[in-house]
Amino acid sequence: MFENLQDKLDRAFKVLKGQGSITEINVAETMKEIRKALLDADVNYKTAKSFTDEVKEKALGANVLTAVSPGQLLTKIMNDELAALMGGEVTELDLKTNPTIILIAGLNGAGKTTFTGKLANFLKNKGKKPLLVAGDVYRPAAVDQLQILGEQIGVPVYANTASKDPVGIALEGIAEGKKQQNNVIIIDTAGRLAIDEQMMDEIAAVKESTKPHEILFVVDAMTGQDAVNTAKAFNDRLDFTGVVLTKLDGDTRGGAALSIKSVVNKPIKFIGTGEKMEALDVFYPERMASRILGMGDVVSLVERAQQQFDEKEAAELQKKIRKNKFDFNDFYNQIQQIKKMGNMKDLMGMIPGVGKMMKNVDIEDDAFKNVEAIIQSMTKYERENPDSIQQSRRLRIAKGSGNKIEEVTKLIKQFEDMRKVMKQFSNPAAAARMMKNMP
Ligand code: GDP
Repeated sequence: MFENLQDKLDRAFKVLKGQGSITEINVAETMKEIRKALLDADVNYKTAKSFTDEVKEKALGANVLTAVSPGQLLTKIMNDELAALMGGEVTELDLKTNPTIILIAGLNGAGKTTFTGKLANFLKNKGKKPLLVAGDVYRPAAVDQLQILGEQIGVPVYANTASKDPVGIALEGIAEGKKQQNNVIIIDTAGRLAIDEQMMDEIAAVKESTKPHEILFVVDAMTGQDAVNTAKAFNDRLDFTGVVLTKLDGDTRGGAALSIKSVVNKPIKFIGTGEKMEALDVFYPERMASRILGMGDVVSLVERAQQQFDEKEAAELQKKIRKNKFDFNDFYNQIQQIKKMGNMKDLMGMIPGVGKMMKNVDIEDDAFKNVEAIIQSMTKYERENPDSIQQSRRLRIAKGSGNKIEEVTKLIKQFEDMRKVMKQFSNPAAAARMMKNMP
C-alpha cells in the first residue's frame, strides 16, 4: 500500500539525516521533495502545497523547543499532519436509530456491491441484524451478486427483479426489514460508468424517500484524482455522510486517500483492502499516516486478529497446548484463520519496518499451500498423533502431497519445536524460568 509514496518520503527525509538542526534552508529543501512525492502520488496540487506549508511552519516553530533529531521531529510532525489531512479523528457510523438506514452510492465497478456485503458482514460481527436491499435495477447480475454475497455471510437480501423502480424497491426493502426486525438496512443502488444526471436523480429520489441516516459514497482508490472529482460531484448532489475507499490493496498511489477529505470535507469511514468479505477496515487517519510513513500499523493487525479469533476457541486451544494435545488438525485450523485475515503481504505491511523490507519480495498469495498439502495428505490418525509419523509414513505423505520427504520432515520438526515452545509458555513458572535464562 502506497509503497512509492513511502519510498519518496523516505528519500525526502534523508536530506535532514545527519543534520544537527532544522534550518530554513534544509527544511525548504525537504519540503520541496515532500511536495514532489505528494504530487507524484497524485495528491491534488493545492492540498500538497498547503500541506507542506503547514509542515514547514510547524518544523521551524518546534525546532528550538525539542531535543530530538531533525529527522525524528519531522517524522512526528508529518505523522500528525498527514493524519489531520485525512480527517484527524476516526468517524464512526451513526447507528443509533432502529432501524438504521444506510444508502450506498458510487459508479459502476467502484466496489459498491462488494462493500455492501462487507459492511453487512462487519455489522453482523458486531451483533447487528442487517438486511441488504438490492436496488440496482439495471444490472440483474448485481442482484445475483448481492444474493450470493448475502448467502455467503448469512445475511438476508431483499430483491424485486420484477420492478424497475429504485424508490419503490428501497421502500419495500425497508418495510420488509422492519417486519423482520432488522436493525440495519443497507440499500445498494445502481451506478453508471461515469457521472450521469439520470443516476444522480435516481439516487437523490431514493435519498428523499428513504431518509437514510448514512449515505456512503464508494470510490475506487486506484482512480486517483478522478476519485476526488467523482466524490465532489456526488457530494454536491447527495451531501453524503462518508467515503469508502476501495482497492487500497492494489497498486494505488495514495492520492485519493490524501486529498478526498480536504476537497469534499467528508470523512473516509472505511477502506477496502481485497475482494474477500473480511477485507474491510475502519479508517483510522492516524494509523494510515503511520503506515504511509512506513511506521506500520500494529493496532489494525491486532484488531483483525481479534475479529477472526474466537475467545472460547482460544481457551480450548490453551487447554490443549497445556496438555500437549495440540495436533495437526489444530495447526491446520490456525492456518485457515490466519488466511482469513487477508493477503499475506498486506498483513506484513502492517508490521513496523517490515512493509518496506518486503517491498520487493514476492510473497505468494497462498504462502501456506505446501504446508496445507502436507497436512491434507496425513490420515486422521496421523494428524491427531503427530508422534506416530515415522519414516514410512513420511514417505507416503511426501508422495501424496507432491513434496520431497525432507519437506515433510522439516514441517514435522517445526511443528514439534513449536509445540515445545507453546507448552513452555502455557506454564507461567516455566516461562518465567525461560525468560530469566535469556540474554
Ligand atoms: P460495483 O459495480 O460498484 O458494485 O462493483 P463490484 O462490487 O462489483 O466490484 C467490482 C470489482 O472490484 C469486483 O471484481 C470486486 O471483487 C473488486 N473489488 C471490490 N472491492 C475491492 C477491494 O477492496 N480490493 C480489490 N482488490 N478488489 C475489490
